[in-house]
Amino acid sequence: MARVLLSLAHMSGAERDFVKEAFDTNWVVPLGPNVNGFENDLEQWLNQKSDHENHVVALSAGTAAIHLGLVMLGVEKGDEVICQSFTFAASANPITYQGATPVFVDSEADTWNMDPELLEEAIVDRIRKTGKKPKAIIPVYLYGNPAKINQIMAVAGKYDIPVLEDSAEAMGSTYDGFHCGTFGRFGVMSFNGNKMITTSGGGALICRSKEDADRVKFYATQARENYPYYQHERIGYNYRLSNVSAGIGRGQMKVLDQHIARRNEIHRMYVSMLSGVEGISVKEPKADRPISPNYWLTCICVDDTKKEGKDYSALSALLASHDIETRPLWKPMHLQPVFSQAPAYVNGVSERMFNLGLCLPSGPMVSDDDVERIVGLIKDFACH
Ligand SMILES: *Cc1c(COP(=O)(O)O)cnc(C)c1O
Repeated sequence: MARVLLSLAHMSGAERDFVKEAFDTNWVVPLGPNVNGFENDLEQWLNQKSDHENHVVALSAGTAAIHLGLVMLGVEKGDEVICQSFTFAASANPITYQGATPVFVDSEADTWNMDPELLEEAIVDRIRKTGKKPKAIIPVYLYGNPAKINQIMAVAGKYDIPVLEDSAEAMGSTYDGFHCGTFGRFGVMSFNGNKMITTSGGGALICRSKEDADRVKFYATQARENYPYYQHERIGYNYRLSNVSAGIGRGQMKVLDQHIARRNEIHRMYVSMLSGVEGISVKEPKADRPISPNYWLTCICVDDTKKEGKDYSALSALLASHDIETRPLWKPMHLQPVFSQAPAYVNGVSERMFNLGLCLPSGPMVSDDDVERIVGLIKDFACH
């Protein structure tokens, strides 16, 4: 039997045509018609569920998008940026690229995302301790779960601090009817191999104005000023998505809605088949407004208080022995050795979840039979 993977990419078939066209027309260089086409596809798709027009810049990675978002917000040496602690390191690393300091804020239990009350406490305390406001706030949509973004935006607005949404895992998730990633000043997309869609590596920054998008493109292409020769007045980056990668992205847009529906279906199967199994709970995100998660990865918590030696790592080992891939939840940034010096405002939620949780195979290549087999093994584990 083939190994069951957490989140394997799935091609529509149309990718090949867009990439072939790039070769046939000799647009194998960076930039070209697929990049514009992909950006237009993304904009149209976002604008269907948004209260304003979005402008998208395709980049080489989601990490590059976060970095350029911080550049655009003027983050520099000596600044502090508030970042959700419960996340992948890519949310926080770019803060340090700018010479700034991350300040980590813990999550609330409903969504596993930034706790709005703790956020306000952190802002007040940073102002008291440093005499200045944090320069930006980076909330995350963990596993595609919509954060309580209305409350986060309200706190950010009260202190007039811009929000850069790390919506890298949330493509297709909505909060109050609008796409995650369209609430703040900037939003982030990732097209890495295991995200909702892939370009084999890539990302995008969602902007609110054409002026911002143009400026992001300027920074992403080495900050070349408009002169007949190469004139540079700012530090630039080589962060644009290539025309070949964008071709893959255009093909992937054709299966995005299908992929969201399939992940949702897989999530529903896990929820119904695991309901009532003692010691196992499937994470069902709730928020303060209507939400529609993309169910990028379905996560379970394994209650280890019932039986000794029966924790998430034992379950993970059992599933691995049946060629089924699982992954522990993200280890919070405030527990990472590399960020041990960074200020952190914690409440125990992310650390607790890290000690209990496991991500299950959830991608569009996972079959109904796979889910049944996985659930069978989890039940055996829980009952014996
Ligand atoms: C994947 C991911 C990113 C980074 O995206 P890349 O395209 O891999 O650079 C950033 N933040 C989160 C939360 C992610 O999961």
